[in-house]
Amino acid sequence: MKLLEGKIALITGASRGIGRGIALKFAEQGASIAFTYLSSVEKGQELEKELQAFGIKAKGYRSDAADYKAAEELVNTVVADFGTIDILVNNAGITRDTLLMRMSEQQWDEVMNANLKSVFNVTKAVQKPMLKQRKGSIINMSSVVGIQGNAGQSNYAASKAGIIGFTKSVALELGSRNIRCNAIAPGFIETEMTAALDAKVVEGWRDNVPLKRGGTVDDVANATIFLASDMSAYITGQVINVCGGMLT
Ligand code: NAP
Repeated sequence: MKLLEGKIALITGASRGIGRGIALKFAEQGASIAFTYLSSVEKGQELEKELQAFGIKAKGYRSDAADYKAAEELVNTVVADFGTIDILVNNAGITRDTLLMRMSEQQWDEVMNANLKSVFNVTKAVQKPMLKQRKGSIINMSSVVGIQGNAGQSNYAASKAGIIGFTKSVALELGSRNIRCNAIAPGFIETEMTAALDAKVVEGWRDNVPLKRGGTVDDVANATIFLASDMSAYITGQVINVCGGMLT
């Protein structure tokens, strides 16, 4: 028996990196998958075909998670196409790193909107079908940086810390309706987001991880499968650090 057989998942920001890895792992576990992308249109279309090759129902939608109305329309369309939504993975995110001294209002707002407001937008919309069916699992992608902070990432760290407060509050509000809400805090995961960083910085990070390597998208995807599946039926309001022991 596959862990997500019969479940319908919506994953935001799956054209690349961790979101893409989650979509592929979910497909392996038998879920039907709706996913979004924003600027990587071709990659989104390719992923749709790759997922369908697993023999599951899969569809990609171009949708800006930071846009309240668009998120509402997205969820309505997904429910019309798939019937309902059992699992929501709020994965979409960006960085606009710089020291506070140099940070513009635009850099602050872009990160807060793409990383934190997006989580509010899509979760609020997905509440409706989940309340109706009296079940659901919501998984929000935070970061260890949201717990311990990071110089040069005050906007990003604030957005990821905000996600944790939001996650715990939603877990308290919706627990009685059998809707669970948890967060994952990845540490240093090697994706395009980190490939843009200086090679020496990356080497230093690898060295500082107790498990002596950067994480892979599959490391994060495996934790996401656990939280999405009934294996975690008694877990809500929690943050799972997937960081090789970096935050211990
Ligand atoms: P990535 O490779 O840069 O991919 C980001 C994804 O988010 C892309 O698919 C992008 O879509 C999508 N996206 C961005 N803004 C969006 C929006 N407004 N609406 C819809 N989709 C949007 O990043 P990643 O490394 O996989 O990170 C994924 C998540 O994990 C993020 O929330 C990130 O903060 C978190 N995280 C990552 C790490 C790490 O080490 N990599 C560590 C901790 C937490 P398009 O390309 O189509 O625009």
